[in-house]
Amino acid sequence: MTPPLAGPPVDLRSDTVTRPDARMRRAMADAEVGDDVLDGDPTLRALEEEVARLLSAEDALWVPSGSMGNLIALCVRLERGDRFLAPDRAHVLDQEVGTAAWLAGGMPRTLPWSAGPGRPRPDDVTRAVGRGGPYFALRDRLLCLENTHNAAGGTVTPPAEHRRLVAAAHTAGLLVHLDGARLWNAAVALGVPVAELAEGADSVQVCLSKGLGAPVGSVLAGGAAFVREARRVRKMLGGGIRQGGVLGAAGLVALGRVDRLAEDHENARLLAAGLAERGWKTDVPQTNIVLLPVDDPAGTVALLAGRGVRTVPTDDAVRMITHHDVTRRDILRAVDAFPTPG
Ligand SMILES: *Cc1c(COP(=O)(O)O)cnc(C)c1O
Repeated sequence: MTPPLAGPPVDLRSDTVTRPDARMRRAMADAEVGDDVLDGDPTLRALEEEVARLLSAEDALWVPSGSMGNLIALCVRLERGDRFLAPDRAHVLDQEVGTAAWLAGGMPRTLPWSAGPGRPRPDDVTRAVGRGGPYFALRDRLLCLENTHNAAGGTVTPPAEHRRLVAAAHTAGLLVHLDGARLWNAAVALGVPVAELAEGADSVQVCLSKGLGAPVGSVLAGGAAFVREARRVRKMLGGGIRQGGVLGAAGLVALGRVDRLAEDHENARLLAAGLAERGWKTDVPQTNIVLLPVDDPAGTVALLAGRGVRTVPTDDAVRMITHHDVTRRDILRAVDAFPTPG
């Protein structure tokens, strides 16, 4: 029997569990603020401009969460009953309470992972849209991409493949929204500027509260007209935050932490390698998510929790995500907590 770990639990449930450190809290306390609903908050504005610059977008809008950013994009782009396409098991399909249908009025169509885990092929887009149809056919409006693809295990779509997907969508008359909650991770894994992975997309959502460690916040970027409309929808959803600069300041600190995601990726590889050494079968992680296929995910998660390692069960795996608040030593402790397979 493996004894419980000495020391505090190692929390691998998500990269959202990171807590703002002293530097970030100081920046929040010192933030210059205004009224973002009335006439603007200077710190939120600085953050929006910086993210727009990083993504080579015309403009950007801070939003309280990634889910709200995705929902706003869908609300702006879809009329009731319009169809949107998204890769199978996309966050916008499975993890957002059905708001794509409930609030944005979208009819989803899933795309297969024919180019690899989490990655559809341009052909899949073309085929899903078809060549028009009878008067009662659905109107296809939007392709939602996801990079990295969370449920597939943080898989990365490289720039050339991204551009081909965007081109297929545009040719078929669709606009493109990119759910880039972890686009930073994809950029660091590939060693390319984040703008390259957003090229051609008509809107992009990036999270500040995952690996970058802000307590709250995402940014939704796109053209100026899109962002004007997005601001209206944000207010409609109750997302106008008045002295939001307190949160925006955390986002600005978070943006300075993109490069350190490489450490999370290294820790994820260390974790996977450690598990492989113990006899487990797992893919080499592309970014900061490790999926370990097991027969009894809930049972394994409970057993690990008893040994001081917090993880999340999926349908067929234990999911572990590395982040700012876990060290290399924590990873080695986590590996030790695993039982032997079988
Ligand atoms: C976390 C996540 C979101 C949503 O972010 P929240 O801030 O938790 O609402 C959207 N898409 C993907 C791929 C995510 O991993």
